Amino acid sequence: MTPTRAEDNPYAMALAQYNRAVKHLALKRGIEDYLRIPRRELTVNFPVKMDDGSIRIFTGYRVHHSTARGPTKGGIRYHPDVTLDEVRALAMWMTWKCAVMNLPYGGAKGGVACDPKQLSLKELENLSRRYASEIAILIGPESDIPAPDLNTTPQIMAWITDTYSVLRGYAVPAVVTGKPVPVGGSLGRAQATGRGVMIATREALASMNRSLQGARVAVQGFGNVGAVSAALLHQAGACIVAASDTSGGTLNPRGLDPAALEQHKGETGRLVDYPGGEPIDNAGLLATECDVLIPAALEQQITAANADRVRAGFVVEGANGPTTPEADTILAERGVVVVPDILANAGGVTVSYFEWVQDLQSFFWTEEEINQRLERLMVRAFHEVKDMAEDKKVDLRLAALIRAISRVAEAIKILGIFP
Ligand code: NAD
Repeated sequence: MTPTRAEDNPYAMALAQYNRAVKHLALKRGIEDYLRIPRRELTVNFPVKMDDGSIRIFTGYRVHHSTARGPTKGGIRYHPDVTLDEVRALAMWMTWKCAVMNLPYGGAKGGVACDPKQLSLKELENLSRRYASEIAILIGPESDIPAPDLNTTPQIMAWITDTYSVLRGYAVPAVVTGKPVPVGGSLGRAQATGRGVMIATREALASMNRSLQGARVAVQGFGNVGAVSAALLHQAGACIVAASDTSGGTLNPRGLDPAALEQHKGETGRLVDYPGGEPIDNAGLLATECDVLIPAALEQQITAANADRVRAGFVVEGANGPTTPEADTILAERGVVVVPDILANAGGVTVSYFEWVQDLQSFFWTEEEINQRLERLMVRAFHEVKDMAEDKKVDLRLAALIRAISRVAEAIKILGIFP
């Protein structure tokens, strides 16, 4: 397990961030090493019945990074480029994210290397149910609770919940979050990550005496996170000047209407030919003249190769790991404020936590209660991180990591090492 360069490999990137942060903490060497590697990793190769009668073998993963602060929590990703190292990185970031938000969880992640766009609905269901049965030895409401991530939907979460429940012989809604509301999902969960991104953006601007009103925003990735962030920022008075998806993007300095973009995306499946803007590519999107850039697609999008072209004053990370450590250095030198993923996109896991609590109690809250609690936790976490950054004279990513790692290390110290 010795990944190469942080620019090429997400796990190397997560480790580079970790190594930078632990220099500011006086951890025992053994504890430092313990948190550098995942607690456990499962690789599954499994068959799926395809519509034409053939059988295809897929590879999936589930990784638990740390269990010190509670059961593990983390999404499941479907993407052709999913690798074990990517899942390791995402699991480690989940540990830090839950600790930054002070949620009682460790970090996990899962993924299947597949292209869901090439699968029929039935094939997608077969794949999801079989993957769920393969990882059923790890997941459970007390042990590890999956959620949606890239290309996984509330419907897929429902299939995973149902498969796990069938295996147990009774309904276990608390095994997965991000479910549809009629099967134990939480109000507000579908919008939660985007709502958190909006709150983080608002707080970051306010900390520099700026307002969301009229702020120009460019969003890379118009999926769950990107589209909701754009809609809520627009609602709060910001001006969405550009948005993109895998097809490319659309730019209009006078402003785009996120609802119209969503409708166009729904009808055509692509943003690039949206009639209300000029077509741009993803390189152009990242270089858009704007106040706030929200990468909300994949990791390693802002790199040493393009960080000097970013023209935003703020980068608010909707995606996990969109900025490489080299790019971080370049952005910091240029005075760009980066609100790190483990803080900016933590709204999703926070409302997933609310969903899990509601499922365990079989007692459900109103959307207003959920949004108020999310607002409180996001604002608290933002200001804790900002105060730490000012105190230690470090950037927000380093401050968030220092805060998170010290919380996890403290838990390990109190629990002790078995036996
Ligand atoms: P999604 O599948 O709903 O949307 C992803 C979007 O990104 C799609 O519009 C897709 O077309 C676009 N995209 C993919 N590759 C791209 C590329 N190379 N360039 C431009 N656009 C591209 O996924 P999501 O749930 O919105 O997740 C997006 C990111 O946010 C991921 O990094 C994920 O880990 C992170 N995240 C998601 C959640 C959540 O609750 N869903 C929570 C925290 C973080």
